[in-house]
Amino acid sequence: MSERIYLDHNATTPLHPSVVEAMIPVLRDGHGNPSSTHEEGALARRWVDRARGQVAECLSASPGEVVFTGGATEANNTVLLGLDAVPGKIVTTEVEHPSVVAPLEWLEQNGAEVCRLKVGADGLIDLAELDAALVTPTKLVSIIWANNETGVIQPMEEIAQRVKAAGVLLHVDATQAVGKAPVDLSLVRADFLACSAHKFNGPKGVGCLVVREGAACDSLLLGGPQEGRFRGGTENVASIVGIGVAAERAREDLEARIEQYGGLRDRLWATLRDRIPGVRRNGDAESVLCNTLNVEFTGVAGDVLLQSLDLEGVAVSVGAACHSGSINPSHVLTAMGRTPEQALASLRLSVGLGVDRGQVDRAAEILEIQVAKVRSAGV
Ligand code: PMP
Repeated sequence: MSERIYLDHNATTPLHPSVVEAMIPVLRDGHGNPSSTHEEGALARRWVDRARGQVAECLSASPGEVVFTGGATEANNTVLLGLDAVPGKIVTTEVEHPSVVAPLEWLEQNGAEVCRLKVGADGLIDLAELDAALVTPTKLVSIIWANNETGVIQPMEEIAQRVKAAGVLLHVDATQAVGKAPVDLSLVRADFLACSAHKFNGPKGVGCLVVREGAACDSLLLGGPQEGRFRGGTENVASIVGIGVAAERAREDLEARIEQYGGLRDRLWATLRDRIPGVRRNGDAESVLCNTLNVEFTGVAGDVLLQSLDLEGVAVSVGAACHSGSINPSHVLTAMGRTPEQALASLRLSVGLGVDRGQVDRAAEILEIQVAKVRSAGV
């Protein structure tokens, strides 16, 4: 079988070799419970504390502000459902991840007012609309830092300045931004931040919620005092070690990644644009994650194209991975003014660790052939 080309790094990423190396001894020998007061427990506690420091340094937060969770879905739910927001007003956008969309819908059904900011064709919110939304009393603003489907990066520093000037709490879903764009909480004064290890070459099922000093929310899980009472349950020590090392790599390698992934993504786009008629890039081309390319192949059924690419060894995504298998057009692309047909004709291509120029060139060749085939078959 020829080598597979994985261009779906926004869905999930392979583990960095140094993450595997750090996790193996913990899985093999590190059975202690960090809450136990004996030597085994103390060792596990040291591992968790070390990881807390690594994650804090990556985000420019302090270690005491880092709460380990089972991923970003849990972190987003913890803030949104743990804040006592009913009744009250929450400001968000029309392009959030389902792990923010669904809890906000629940809050709305239970008496909260949810104001959803529109985005332009470029996927960016209008800061004047944010200012206008903040004129009436607001409990929380929840905004995605970088979009998982388009990679579009919101102007987070300006957003945070405005939200804090209005005296309102700010939650940011930075799940796609960490490891691919600078995420510096000393510059962006958010109160809460969610992220997830498996998006930056760490293990699945572990993430973190940063709760800045002075902010607080209730734990979703009752029955355990762990993680400063923000997250009950015995810590997943090996995965926490994994997120720590992945965060350290993300911090050390960020500039190199931005350059390398950005070069590959730009090369891919330039080739597709030159070789395939009827392609259009979705989302702002400047304020975008270095690794992400969302492209409409006009008139093509994206799910059919995805399957034919898969058969040829190329893994990509239509809309969000969580939407795969459903034929609903992406809410992110339709919020940007794309028609349902255009949204369904769009693919997300995302590069990352292990992808090289040769793979990108081969993927572009395969895309050219498969787009022509799907178009001529009329599907
Ligand atoms: N937010 C965003 C922007 C995401 O891309 C994802 C993962 N698709 C999540 C939240 C949920 O993360 P997790 O898989 O860790 O629950």
